[in-house]
Amino acid sequence: MREIPVETIRDVIEKLFIDANYNLPNDVVARFEEALDGEESPAGKEVIRELLLNARIAREEGIPICQDTGLAILFVEIGQETHITGGDFEEAITEGVRRAYQKGYLRKSACDPFTRKNTGDNTPPILHAKIVPGELIKIVVMPKGGGSENYSEVRMLTPSEGAEGVRRFVVEMVRKGGPNPCPPITIGVGIGGNFETCALLSKEALMLPFGQRSEDPYLRDLEISILEEVNKLGIGPEGYGGRVTALDLHIKSRPCHIASLPVAVNIQCHAHRIKEATI
Ligand code: SF4
Repeated sequence: MREIPVETIRDVIEKLFIDANYNLPNDVVARFEEALDGEESPAGKEVIRELLLNARIAREEGIPICQDTGLAILFVEIGQETHITGGDFEEAITEGVRRAYQKGYLRKSACDPFTRKNTGDNTPPILHAKIVPGELIKIVVMPKGGGSENYSEVRMLTPSEGAEGVRRFVVEMVRKGGPNPCPPITIGVGIGGNFETCALLSKEALMLPFGQRSEDPYLRDLEISILEEVNKLGIGPEGYGGRVTALDLHIKSRPCHIASLPVAVNIQCHAHRIKEATI
């Protein structure tokens, strides 16, 4: 059995969160460049140029892409042939996040829901972990801004509302958000499961590569048609008007109860910061 010390996991997480906050992933930069060609509005084009410049300055100067450096979200897959040694796995993850936000001069955004007292170190992180075959540990981190998370929602539709109900819900959420989730956005849609699994599916959908369509032809067509509809709303980059309101939309789905149609919409802002490592 392969042994992995908790310190290794802690150090990888520290690096990943700093990297995610300073270096916008290349695929997001490439998507902005494509969006520049597709955007017709002069104001919208100017915003995309500013976003590209902002990403370049952040990378070159080693500073955060955005002042909102997010809550720390992690998806971890642990190979069942792995033995984690030397301490508590969740504490190591928490310590990695704590060190990243301290050493990287990243804003600490975690607070008590009512007193609003800041926890001081951006912990606790939000951890989704699962056991998978093999002996590797895969860690994906996503610092998630509050502005876009605020325009995310779970809704229990009735089965008869079907795909049209899903379409109405997604478009309603994007319209309601307008400029507030910092477009151009990426939209994750989770369909099925139950109340909590559809929310998780919608976040997993956000992590799919740009341009990757669902393997299910029905869902693929739904992704394409909702994305087209969203981009006709005219919100545009940062809400200055234009065609590029959303860079992409992904749907993840799983079976649900015969009486239910759970749907979740999770919106991600232009600071689409995802980084991963495999140990
Ligand atoms: S929603 Fe995103 S881009 Fe907007 S302030 Fe928050 S992290 Fe920054």
